[in-house]
Amino acid sequence: MMHFTRTQPGPTQALLDQKGKDDTNKRYDIPGVRTQLADDFFEKCYICSSESTSMRIEHFRPHQGNRDLMFDWNNLFYACEHCNSLKSDGYKGLLDCTKTTKIDDKIEFNYRPAKPIRQKVNITDIDSKSPDTIELIQVVFSTNSTPTKRMGAKSLEKKLGIALRNFQTVVEQYQSKQSPANEALLRLEVNNQSEFAAFKRWKVKQAPQNYPVQLPGWFVN
Ligand SMILES: [Zn+2]
Repeated sequence: MMHFTRTQPGPTQALLDQKGKDDTNKRYDIPGVRTQLADDFFEKCYICSSESTSMRIEHFRPHQGNRDLMFDWNNLFYACEHCNSLKSDGYKGLLDCTKTTKIDDKIEFNYRPAKPIRQKVNITDIDSKSPDTIELIQVVFSTNSTPTKRMGAKSLEKKLGIALRNFQTVVEQYQSKQSPANEALLRLEVNNQSEFAAFKRWKVKQAPQNYPVQLPGWFVN
């Protein structure tokens, strides 16, 4: 999970227009909303930080039929199908990543593929004051609750492993040749546009001697 800046006022008026329609015609999943969310969230799920072909428009606070919450631009988030279904109407104390900055300083994101353990992803609270956030992120990467959800978690964990190996390649490229192009690639890997950026940052934080930490301001946002 990373911080995202929400465009304001965004498609607020289009949502208000929809809110005024009768029950059979009202829709919050309209092209202007979907496009703006994709842009603001860099096409990533705000919970797991992955890009997916099946993205959902998610209500941060469950609307449960409440039209104000259903059409409130500030309550609409971008989530993958897997995370959307696991969050469902629960986890009501989640950190709002559009209002909270530096989330990777408040939560530790660990991936330990080498250990012979079932749970390779470990999410630890440092100062988030949000047990719901810790639990939900842990659950999306390691749930076993149903065969479909287990498959979703396994495939997400696999994507994370691949992304971290690619990150390592970019680090090594930069270490062998410190060109502006290689530096730009490295910066892209750890900013909030990148998939699983918080996990990559924690690789660096845990073993700074292995990474070019001298890059000023590379953990922006
Ligand atoms: Zn997700």
